[in-house]
Amino acid sequence: MSAKEKEKEQDQVPNYDKGFSADVSRLLDIVANALYTNHDIFLRELISNSADACDRLRYDAISNPELTKDNPNFRICTYKDTTNRTVTVVDNGVGMTDEELAENLGTIAKSGTAALMEQMKKSSGDTGDKLKLIGQFGVGFYAGFMVAHKIEVVSRKAGSDKIFTWESDGASGFVVRKANDIEAARLDGERGTAVTLYIKDEACEFLIDKKIEDTVKQYSDHIAVPIYLGAPAMVSQDTEAEPLNNTAALWMRTPSDITEEDYTNFYTYIGQTIDEPIMTSHWHAEGKIDFTALLFIPTLRPWDLFDPSRRRFVKLYIRRVFITDELDELMYPWLRFVRGIIDSEDLPLNISRETLQYNPVVEKIRSAVARKILSDLDKLSRNDEPAFVTFWGQFGSAIKEGLYDAPEHQAGLLKICRFYSTHDNGEKLISLEDYVERMKDGQDKIYYLCGETLESVKNSPQLEGFRSRGIEVLYFTDTIDDFWLQSVLDYKGHQFQSITRGDVDFDKFDDEKSKKTIENEETKEESKQDISALITAMQEALGKRVHNVRKSKRLKDSPVCLVAPDEAVDMHMERVLKINQKYNANTKPVLEINPDHALILKLAEKAEKKEDIKDFALLLLDQAHIIQGDELENPTDFARRMSDIMNKTL
Ligand code: ADP
Ligand code: MG
Repeated sequence: MSAKEKEKEQDQVPNYDKGFSADVSRLLDIVANALYTNHDIFLRELISNSADACDRLRYDAISNPELTKDNPNFRICTYKDTTNRTVTVVDNGVGMTDEELAENLGTIAKSGTAALMEQMKKSSGDTGDKLKLIGQFGVGFYAGFMVAHKIEVVSRKAGSDKIFTWESDGASGFVVRKANDIEAARLDGERGTAVTLYIKDEACEFLIDKKIEDTVKQYSDHIAVPIYLGAPAMVSQDTEAEPLNNTAALWMRTPSDITEEDYTNFYTYIGQTIDEPIMTSHWHAEGKIDFTALLFIPTLRPWDLFDPSRRRFVKLYIRRVFITDELDELMYPWLRFVRGIIDSEDLPLNISRETLQYNPVVEKIRSAVARKILSDLDKLSRNDEPAFVTFWGQFGSAIKEGLYDAPEHQAGLLKICRFYSTHDNGEKLISLEDYVERMKDGQDKIYYLCGETLESVKNSPQLEGFRSRGIEVLYFTDTIDDFWLQSVLDYKGHQFQSITRGDVDFDKFDDEKSKKTIENEETKEESKQDISALITAMQEALGKRVHNVRKSKRLKDSPVCLVAPDEAVDMHMERVLKINQKYNANTKPVLEINPDHALILKLAEKAEKKEDIKDFALLLLDQAHIIQGDELENPTDFARRMSDIMNKTL
């Protein structure tokens, strides 16, 4: 065998012959079975990959112009071949080596994929749920298998002279081998990638030019690289050839020239999502720093919103050149759900991605962008309340992280924060502004109650005194609430005060008139009975279990409740800290007793006569713990006392 023949022989041996990784197989399965109704999007996915490949090479060529010397102009061509029943998308972007072909098109490298696949498995019954998840993830390249029974990807990495073909039927696995001459001829110049799809019979509409043209126009108009209809050689010969898309970068166009649909398509491309943006912010900032931003807030919360990495996704461009989508410093972590692009006029093009992290211009952009988003959200809350409420439901907890993460934006953040409260019985979200407007004469504090769920806080006995006096109390039921309360001391000079901590000075609200109404509501006449003997007796009976026992002003219908002593951490906060194992101090609660409650009055008589009230005291304490959702220290004792008392009364 001659050396040449030997080389030829070796060319036939695949470089890679592999099964897909497990998550790709599962994804392919879902793509083929669940997504079949909307198969147009395969073209959008392939074109977006091509555009990304062009963006990447454009960036690399800044430091190494050799890479694009064969043709400095980027373009994407797409065409059909009715003889072979194929559709091809070709780009002269960065291309892939054999290793990259196997890696990028055989596994899913994105972080969090495993978690996503787990979720998909769980929601296996519901196609709608899967669609949502996939949409958030972007099916990407594999969408091609919705319309093709075989795909060939021919690629030549810019700067290399080797051409490889990746080939797969989308079921068993894939092969990567040296490209043959016919395949190599599909490339556009000396670099880039050609993806050829062998169209399934049921998708034959894509073998019509008009269908390709319409699909490109519908989904890819915003792509900044020109997209042509026809094979690269044909397009080069045709001096009249016009791109199918509007190639000006969408964000540089005047907002009034951009349709809602243009924005949504761009959002889908940039955000890898299928929902629609609930808010779009597009503006140009001039002055100390000069940049254009086109940013979107999704309607649906991304599945990994609370992933500890708190990754950000906004893409950085410098004068229209894509630089990176991995610069976390461009966005605050509490705005990590924002998608879109920021295009800076000030940063130098040849800056390395690493040094961008500490760049003062980036810092200024981050702050300016946050201010604008917060003010746009404030506007949204006034102009489109339902949209804002949806937004808050999806992203409110993330936003609230900003209250302790970014003190410089606290005012703007507090303005858009929404909470449930005793007003409207917790049915409607209110702002702190609303709260302050409804404050009672003489009220200087903002009262709140922390708890696990809205239902449980609504029924808290501690609320009774506030309700009867018409004093509004905010419900904080998000874990994050306990944390921001540590760093936000007040809203417009009004301190936040937990109603389960310390004593509340109700006297100042109980002027003559309202005192009368409160007393009228109460049917018991002799509420002025002295209960000091009972307090002493209970204190003795409960010993170290409580900080102390005292008369309550906050109770109306319940006999007892627990509150934290003045100097201690709020009770719910203590529970949260304990769960997170950050806190060990075991603060004893204050047991407050209702001096007007029939049960307490009867007990007071008993105590007066020096009768034993120990079991009653312990039962009342346990009851207060139960209402609060605490676990009892000793449930057996509780049950025994309960049975004893039932036994005596029967
Ligand atoms: P994504 O685009 O979200 O990364 P895809 O499944 O669409 O996921 O593509 C997987 C990877 O394959 C891309 O990240 C890229 O590295 C590579 N790739 C796909 N198409 C091309 C192309 N036309 N040119 C260069 N690389 C490509
Ligand atoms: Mg892609």
